[in-house]
Amino acid sequence: MAYPTSTRQGKQFLGNKNKKEVHDLKREDKNQNGCQVDEFLKAGHGVAFTPDTLQQAHFEGYDNCAKCIGNSKR
Ligand SMILES: [Zn+2]
Repeated sequence: MAYPTSTRQGKQFLGNKNKKEVHDLKREDKNQNGCQVDEFLKAGHGVAFTPDTLQQAHFEGYDNCAKCIGNSKR
């Protein structure tokens, strides 16, 4: 299940529902052109997953972020 969130607290994977992309916070690219997690959280586009796994994010139709996970299908 995916649910809206405005915080990264306690999560490993966060989705950007605007771009349908999932990010791995353990490998987050914090450069200006990186994952931009804070930006999409602030914009209200953040989602978290139950369970908090990459498989669950894929199941929900989210694609890998090319910067922190790689092997993006797009
Ligand atoms: Zn990312």
